[in-house]
Amino acid sequence: MFQPKDSSMSPRFVGPRTFMRLPFVQHLQDVDFLVMGVPFDTAASNRTGQRYGPQSIRDFSVLLRPYNPDQDINIFDYCSGIDYGDVDVIPGNVLKTYNQITEKLEPILEKGIVPVMMGGDHSISLGHLRAFHKKYGRLSLVHFDSHSDTWDNYFGEKYVHGTPFRRAVEEGLLDADKSIQVGIRGPLYGPEDIQDARDLGYQVIPMRDVRELGIEKVIHRIHETVGSNPVFVSFDIDFLDPAYAPGTGTPEIGGPTSFEALEYVRQLDGLDIKGFDLVEVLPNYDTGEITAVAASTIIYEMITLIALMKKRKQD
Ligand code: MN
Ligand code: MN
Repeated sequence: MFQPKDSSMSPRFVGPRTFMRLPFVQHLQDVDFLVMGVPFDTAASNRTGQRYGPQSIRDFSVLLRPYNPDQDINIFDYCSGIDYGDVDVIPGNVLKTYNQITEKLEPILEKGIVPVMMGGDHSISLGHLRAFHKKYGRLSLVHFDSHSDTWDNYFGEKYVHGTPFRRAVEEGLLDADKSIQVGIRGPLYGPEDIQDARDLGYQVIPMRDVRELGIEKVIHRIHETVGSNPVFVSFDIDFLDPAYAPGTGTPEIGGPTSFEALEYVRQLDGLDIKGFDLVEVLPNYDTGEITAVAASTIIYEMITLIALMKKRKQD
């Protein structure tokens, strides 16, 4: 049974940094969930430095505590969790990095462990989805982002951080009709950019509609779209308004608050979630660790969902 160090016995600033002070473990026995870094950033179209995202998230995460009052659960009453370290990415080679990612994920998924990946630019999600598809078949995607990431290419390149969710549909990894994108906003090249995502099959809720509908109705749409399908949740930190997450590569103003982001994740409870990623944290542009605070707490809500799923199975 693996759980965080007790910060009432050992000060939280002590020891090597792992997510939430979880043990750094390199095997997969007696593990229910794990947190793992994917520090790859050479498929980003603009700013780079997302390779330092996982470490900045770990740095702040020492402040997280095991009882989640909003979901009324002590995560470690139901779960054993570890920090599994990072994937050995290949800087500058996205295709080889995908192989590194799937190789690392396959034994994890084989054991039924629920992983949470910390990016890294958003290109890495295609590697995640390839591994998940191999284990679970066609999945639903719940995608929080200010961008659809369904462009065909950048500068002729097919595998960059603006294309993973087009490639995923082309590769048959997703059940796009049971997948949803939430929070899309910002200037585009033309109306076809959002239409393309819809033509691929995704349900798209742009930010203006998110505002108009409100959290409850958006959550209802998510649950309605996904149903009982197995789900992968991909959370791009630029879903948040840059006031709440300045440390990212392609910020778009007019987004949700950090409270709203937490609430969206909490209310995914009830879905059959097989894994998560949280991407595009770029600490070089972070101020006062605002982005790292948001990212680590969003991941905390993700692992709470894992504990809730586990609890439901036990009851
Ligand atoms: Mn984005
Ligand atoms: Mn993205």
